[in-house]
Amino acid sequence: MIMSRVQVAELFEAASAGGYAIPHFNHSDFWDMSAIAEAAQESKAPIFIACLPKVIDAIGIEKLGAVGKITMEQSKTPIIYHLDHCHNADICFAAIDNGYNSVMIDASHSSLKENIETVKKVVQYAHARGVHVEAEIGQIKSAGDEGNTVISGKATADDARVLVKETGVDALAVAFGSEHGFYTHKPELDFELLRQVRQVVPVPLVLHGGTGIPEEDVRRAIDNGIRKVNVGTHIRCTYIGAVKQAIEEMGTQTHTADIMAFAKDQVKTVVKQWIKTCRADGKS
Ligand SMILES: [Zn+2]
Repeated sequence: MIMSRVQVAELFEAASAGGYAIPHFNHSDFWDMSAIAEAAQESKAPIFIACLPKVIDAIGIEKLGAVGKITMEQSKTPIIYHLDHCHNADICFAAIDNGYNSVMIDASHSSLKENIETVKKVVQYAHARGVHVEAEIGQIKSAGDEGNTVISGKATADDARVLVKETGVDALAVAFGSEHGFYTHKPELDFELLRQVRQVVPVPLVLHGGTGIPEEDVRRAIDNGIRKVNVGTHIRCTYIGAVKQAIEEMGTQTHTADIMAFAKDQVKTVVKQWIKTCRADGKS
């Protein structure tokens, strides 16, 4: 089924009541998308499948939206098809028009005032069409960025409160020490900041940069109010690494479908691990 904004909110309420987070997995094409969807159904877990604007540039929004819609319709467990880290409101509108039922407008690089204005525009368009919106406060950096980005990018609880109050956004990604990609140092999550944000922000909070955060810290974040955990790099590197391994073992004359069957299995294993880490299978 294709979930409306209200139904997505109900999923988050269930996650909150059950003490788990809804996992979010980034995909790059249709092979990894189907691997993620199959793993979620086999684990009986609700998930987000997300793509970055980069993937839209490569494949096209109509094709992605159409396949996303079919994937959601055919799934026996809730799947939400999401646009991740979009800096451009117009691309959010196009995604909404093409069947995405969740978008992230990321204007976290701009001032609080501009962030609010941009998020407001997207919220207005999305909510009129029953679509869920996520925003970001503070700046979640990429591992490998120069300088001490972990400290400089952190959110403040008051900015988070104001952004949510002013925009009516549905979920909030909070910069509290996580980074995208693989860490070159041990990630230090600021749980005190997370607790402060949770006290003043009524919407579900999102942990970005799940890859590389130790399981105990992900669990601790969930116990402190995180309701969505984003995993991108771990999926992508597993996928590409598995394709490489399959080609090395089976040779370049092997049919694409056979190479991808191997890669899909590897991706499914990682997706299932993350579902367990998030306790989203209801058993972990
Ligand atoms: Zn992210």
